[in-house]
Amino acid sequence: MIPYGRQTVAEEDIDAVVRVLRSERLTQGPEVDGFEHAIAQYCGAGQAVAVSSGTAALHIACLALGLGPGDVGWTVPNTFVASANCIRYCGAEVDFVDIRPEDGNIDPDALAEKLVRAEREGRLPRVLIPVHFGGEPCDLERIASLAERFGFKVIEDACHAFGGRFRDEPIGSGRFSDITVFSFHPIKTIATGEGGAAATNDSRLAARMRGLRTHGITRDPAEMEGEVDGPWHYQQQSLGWNYRLSDIHAALGRSQLKRADAFVCARRDLAARYDRLLGGLEVGVVPRERSPDSACHLYVVSVPGGPARRRAVFERMLAEGIGVNVHYIPVHLQPYYRRLGFGDGDFPGAEGHYRAALTLPLFVSLTEPEQDRVVRALATALSTSGRANKG
Ligand SMILES: *Cc1c(COP(=O)(O)O)cnc(C)c1O
Repeated sequence: MIPYGRQTVAEEDIDAVVRVLRSERLTQGPEVDGFEHAIAQYCGAGQAVAVSSGTAALHIACLALGLGPGDVGWTVPNTFVASANCIRYCGAEVDFVDIRPEDGNIDPDALAEKLVRAEREGRLPRVLIPVHFGGEPCDLERIASLAERFGFKVIEDACHAFGGRFRDEPIGSGRFSDITVFSFHPIKTIATGEGGAAATNDSRLAARMRGLRTHGITRDPAEMEGEVDGPWHYQQQSLGWNYRLSDIHAALGRSQLKRADAFVCARRDLAARYDRLLGGLEVGVVPRERSPDSACHLYVVSVPGGPARRRAVFERMLAEGIGVNVHYIPVHLQPYYRRLGFGDGDFPGAEGHYRAALTLPLFVSLTEPEQDRVVRALATALSTSGRANKG
């Protein structure tokens, strides 16, 4: 089976992890510090806070920006459920902004219209979480100018976009947002096993997130309220979680980070090769025009002819040993979100994208012969599934 995504682990990564296992500290030690510095430097951010997952990073980013009960947070439906769930974790309400079909990213015009309506109704969001779908950067410039005009905060869900760029700056530089969140799940640009990070240029937000990842506890006498009882004293000043990353994971991430550029280059080359190989086939490619700055996390095609044909193509490829996938089932159509009042037809852009989407295997160690096999299997699946179920 050719999977749709997988990690690339080298001997040097294994050595880095083994070194930690032989050392004094297994968690919250020098490897976490080193990893955080390396992430901040790589993406041009003032600070990075490493945590146990991308989801944890989204959660503490929302909390650090003050999201809570009575607030509304907005994201897109064409994403993994975590982008919306983090808003619910804070007790806030979720709403969605539709995507544009060209690239699966948030539609800035739909966002602007929805903001005008929300302002009239006194329901402006406190936080917006745009997602760089498949590694293709959102229009951050438009988003930032709307954030300024309507007074909301922006958390980039850059779980697909580590190593990508926008307007000559790395994703994570924070020029157009308050906090940028990354995931280091094995299918993402670099892997720690489980892991994530939040990057920001605001040292107050970074300090808040550092507190929240470890129970809301501080051990710094300068930050304590009242008398310090003694050298053992710590204070819990807010309600936090155990979202720490271990040094074992951080060492893997730190070692992988040295090859992040090479990983992104390899992904871009493979995506460009797919573009050429798929030229004659009856599929569209999302995004229609990939920016040279995409991190190329996913290679998504759209299968014409309706959802039944997409399903037939999917099943035939799976039977051929090709690990295809679908990104994404619109979050608002998940039973949990339907129970909150969302339903079919609410976000036609995301729903239309979902009906046709098919994700082909794309990962650093995918070989050219394997890629050729994927394309042959797709061509066969398309021709044998006909266009019978058009609609
Ligand atoms: C992977 C992913 C997440 C969650 O990251 P985890 O590290 O798995 O918690 C959130 N949002 C998007 C868009 C993702 O792809």
